[in-house]
Amino acid sequence: MSARARGGRLILQSLTKRYPGMVAVDGMDLEVESGEFITLLGPSGSGKTSTLMMIAGFTPPSSGEILIDDQPITGMPPERRNIGVVFQNYALFPHMTVERNVGFPLKMRGLAREEIRERVGAALDLVQLSGLGARLPRELSGGQQQRVALARALVFNPGILLMDEPLGALDKKLREQMQFELKRIHSELSVTVIYVTHDQEEALTMSDRVALINQGRIEQLGRAEELYERPASRFVAEFIGESNLVEGRIDRGNSDGYDVLVTDSGIRLPAAGLPPSQSSGRALLVLRPEKIALLPIANPCRGAVRGTVRELTYVGDFTRYRVELDDGAVITAKRPNSKEVVRAGAGETVQLIWHPEDTCVLSA
Ligand code: ADP
Ligand code: MG
Repeated sequence: MSARARGGRLILQSLTKRYPGMVAVDGMDLEVESGEFITLLGPSGSGKTSTLMMIAGFTPPSSGEILIDDQPITGMPPERRNIGVVFQNYALFPHMTVERNVGFPLKMRGLAREEIRERVGAALDLVQLSGLGARLPRELSGGQQQRVALARALVFNPGILLMDEPLGALDKKLREQMQFELKRIHSELSVTVIYVTHDQEEALTMSDRVALINQGRIEQLGRAEELYERPASRFVAEFIGESNLVEGRIDRGNSDGYDVLVTDSGIRLPAAGLPPSQSSGRALLVLRPEKIALLPIANPCRGAVRGTVRELTYVGDFTRYRVELDDGAVITAKRPNSKEVVRAGAGETVQLIWHPEDTCVLSA
């Protein structure tokens, strides 16, 4: 399959989809660069599939505009958009061989037999299924069927590839192997990918950028690190990874030079603070469990917070501690299971310590 010079550039402008009594996609704006791998991540029902269906041309938007390479395509039929689509349930034709499944889009486009044969061969090579062209879908494993679906979506050299939870039906090991394969294919073809998943780990590991969707809107758009380290809202902090979320007010720059979030019961938690422009009113501290160290209480450290270990759970690569502070609030800490790391037992009083810069503070 000939490598494309560049993938399509996709723009969504106030894209909206209404169903009777509800708004599935609510004025979405998004610009996807040529060759970018972008993921729409969000809970079930947040409007991810509806968005893809509008981009593919299978459902008309209620309002808004879709542009590819600066051309409006909102009313254009699907087969003219040069977009490949892969669904979770493969949607292969059960009575057609692998070769005929993959060749189908080319046949629809009226290509000559010989050229179809060549292109199908190349597409099957790309997804590492050469030699299986004569089989029927039911004679393949789930992972192989998904590769056929991928070959069929790529065989006509689309500028944009849409994938809707393509690995959702596969077990964990196979899913990870396919994630790796998809990344290889993406960099080989430089096709623009819009990927949909509700699995945050999959989104963070695969994407150039992630758009976190909540109720038909983009809650935050950014690189994996930005979403994880600098969540823009409570929703993002809760959806991506695990967080301790503590409400209170910010006390600016103490004698040690960092800010402190003071809880309603007066416990002082080191924090990175809010920009001064947003600093009035209540604040929400986002503290990731793996940023918290747990030390014996013997030598109290400056800025440390005292607590008692109420519960610990061994999770293989780390141990999760539930630590009760003096006011009864519970903080979760995760410590790697290494001889280097201090451990604590249930019932033990400990001090929790973290770097203020490892936290982030939102207006509550
Ligand atoms: P996601 O893919 O993120 O799970 P969807 O785009 O499938 O979300 O659905 C978003 C919302 O729109 C859901 O509440 C869903 O029930 C609703 N919805 C989707 N398709 C239709 C439809 N054809 N008719 C009515 N409501 C729909
Ligand atoms: Mg969906």
